Amino acid sequence: MKEQYRCHSCGTTYNVTDFVWKCTCGGVLDLVKEKVTIDVTKLQEKMPTMWRYVDVMPFEKDSNVWKEVTMGEGNTPLIGLDNSEPHTLVKVDYMMPTLSFKDRGAAVLIAKAKELGVKSVIADSSGNAGTAIAAYAKRANIACDIFLGKGTSPKKIAQVKAHGANVREIDGTREDVAAAAQKAVKEEKKFYASHVYNPYFYEGTKTYAYEIWEQMKGAPDSLIIPVGNGTLLLGAYYGFKELMENQLINKMPKLVAIQAENCAPLAQAFVNNEIEANQIEGNPTLAEGIAIASPARSAQILEAIRATEGEILTVNEEEILKARTLLAGKGFYVEPTTATNYAGYLKYKRLPSEKIIIPLCGAGIKAN
Ligand SMILES: *Cc1c(COP(=O)(O)O)cnc(C)c1O
Ligand SMILES: [Zn+2]
Repeated sequence: MKEQYRCHSCGTTYNVTDFVWKCTCGGVLDLVKEKVTIDVTKLQEKMPTMWRYVDVMPFEKDSNVWKEVTMGEGNTPLIGLDNSEPHTLVKVDYMMPTLSFKDRGAAVLIAKAKELGVKSVIADSSGNAGTAIAAYAKRANIACDIFLGKGTSPKKIAQVKAHGANVREIDGTREDVAAAAQKAVKEEKKFYASHVYNPYFYEGTKTYAYEIWEQMKGAPDSLIIPVGNGTLLLGAYYGFKELMENQLINKMPKLVAIQAENCAPLAQAFVNNEIEANQIEGNPTLAEGIAIASPARSAQILEAIRATEGEILTVNEEEILKARTLLAGKGFYVEPTTATNYAGYLKYKRLPSEKIIIPLCGAGIKAN
């Protein structure tokens, strides 16, 4: 079966070669594909990067296009937070080529774009996704325009520019930036390499789950996951679901989503038992990477959290800053958005023997 896009709201299907990024009804698209079968014996001979899971990614059979794109991303360390808490592990995803977990999704999305013959892409971002898309697009010899908000960290803007992308700075909210990019996609007839809308991005972020499974020889009890647009949360959820379907694990980890109190539409929807989030009027937060007032995949994110009997916690600015300092004191220098995860962990009421994984998503030097 060739994979297809299917609207999450109304079920309409589209060919992936049609380059649509959302349904005519406005719904977001999921990828429908053949059931994944994981050949564990074959994994042993594969290289220690996220591409050891290429057989469970939807590329053409025997496609080698990823080899033109990879920078050796993935297989990041999974290690103890500190010696006093043996059950809490951190996954050091800032040890990626562009210093954030977005490389997982960007590498797969750009490799797929290359396979589809795409010559030019547009994306919008609060910083790290744009950087990752810019880097991989350049490497794949694909032209790239990145839409960023004027308030984005100067270091992130510089990083995107360094990768040769054409940066288009937009004065407005994160939603205005996305709208400007979507308008340009339409008018300029370009491929929308959106980490939010393009389902192939999640085929990359799902390797977060596969790596954890191999590194721990199983699944943890709980995953702390930062959530703005949900690209790591949904990727992890899809990955562990595939492992379940292959009987390689016997329970899904609980998803504990973390949002910044100043911008927490998903936390609001979760406590109000809503199916999707309502757009909120967010306040500025140090956690710029998760300051998303209107997450497009809110229904899927809430479904995933509920399906794993998970929860959503919020943390305030003071807690974020404190957590950043505490993490640096353990050797991990992260950006404020990532400190949010640790701040959430500190608030989470865990059981004494609960195995928990905290992702360290973005490097400290990316932010001020
Ligand atoms: C993108 C990003 C997040 C949030 O990911 P979403 O897909 O928006 O949920 C968290 N931390 C860092 C460092 C990021 O770059
Ligand atoms: Zn639809």
